[in-house]
Amino acid sequence: MTAPDPVLLTPGPLTTSPQTKAAMLRDWGSWDSAFNALTASVCADIVDVVHAADTHVCIPLQGSGTFAVEAALGSFVPRRSKTLVPSNGAYCLRIARILSYLGREFVVLDHPESQAIDPQRIDAALREDADITHVAQVHCETGTGVLNPLPQIAGIVAAHGRRLVVDAMSSFGALPIDLRTMPVDALIAASGKCLEGVPGMGFVVARRTVVESAAGCAHSLALDLHDQWTYLQKTGQWRFTPPTHVVAALRAAIDQFTAEGGQPARLARYTEHCSVLVDGMRSLGFETFIGDDVQAPIIVTFHAPPDPAYDFAEFYRRMRARGFVIYPGKLTTVETFRVGCIGALRSADIRRAVDAIAATVREMGIEVMAPTSLSNLAG
Ligand SMILES: *Cc1c(COP(=O)(O)O)cnc(C)c1O
Repeated sequence: MTAPDPVLLTPGPLTTSPQTKAAMLRDWGSWDSAFNALTASVCADIVDVVHAADTHVCIPLQGSGTFAVEAALGSFVPRRSKTLVPSNGAYCLRIARILSYLGREFVVLDHPESQAIDPQRIDAALREDADITHVAQVHCETGTGVLNPLPQIAGIVAAHGRRLVVDAMSSFGALPIDLRTMPVDALIAASGKCLEGVPGMGFVVARRTVVESAAGCAHSLALDLHDQWTYLQKTGQWRFTPPTHVVAALRAAIDQFTAEGGQPARLARYTEHCSVLVDGMRSLGFETFIGDDVQAPIIVTFHAPPDPAYDFAEFYRRMRARGFVIYPGKLTTVETFRVGCIGALRSADIRRAVDAIAATVREMGIEVMAPTSLSNLAG
């Protein structure tokens, strides 16, 4: 009756392991002490992933990742403030959009989408504008796959005495983040990304002193992280209905993360996926949108074939029929598509995905794979 699950080559939801799925086969009462212990253990492990047990706390929040980003900005960026948003893509601009909904003053520091954020430009912006109180930075810009230089950015923001909020949604658990050496007020991620849980909860690893002084800052009851934290401290419970099955799945996913060897092992596996993918696609004639020097091993953006036979919807449909789910591009100016490297996969899955892409382009009669091969033909 049911076909096998497709391989999700998307940056969340992503392919989860059988153990993670199995962890959702029981019901939990939100008042039950066993569930409170589950929440506490997940939060403690999350803080440990970024080595922050001495300074930071983990505040879980119901909803997708964006809910946690909005909650962190609303709860920890005061109403009288000015936030610098260095931007090189869609998720950076989402931060700006959230700040605008919240009525918090901000300024966008625009970069090309194919380049990493330049810490020197942040340095200059902070030097020039003494009114800037906060910087809100995306670590891995999932819109393209560009890795931004977070340690350098954090150093500069701290040197200027400003506060840093980081959207580490697609990097948390995969890329090294050490809050002992990197000054960050709030680091935001979610269950359904590199920890390989199912989607449904975000979390914010926030500096304890920042959380303690955040009473009354939030614009929203449901997204008030100070209130969520205070209630959790007092009762061991979430305010409002918790995503019980999501928490149980995340517990199982973190156990597998630890057994695999934690963040370094996850990075090694994703790096292998990324190189198998990029090498395979290049051998078919595809071109990546960004340079290898700024590529995070999370998601890869490829130029769409400039061949009249190419059509993303049709390409997607045929890939889906072969058992693979790919992702549309998120750029406004250039036509692209994206393939994720994350999830409970092995490099053999990525090899099979490249083979499926090869078969699909043959079937669709696509001959020109990349913009440069088109200009070579024209020249
Ligand atoms: C996935 C992601 C988010 C959150 O997206 P949701 O669809 O709300 O889960 C935010 N920022 C980045 C960088 C992401 O990769």
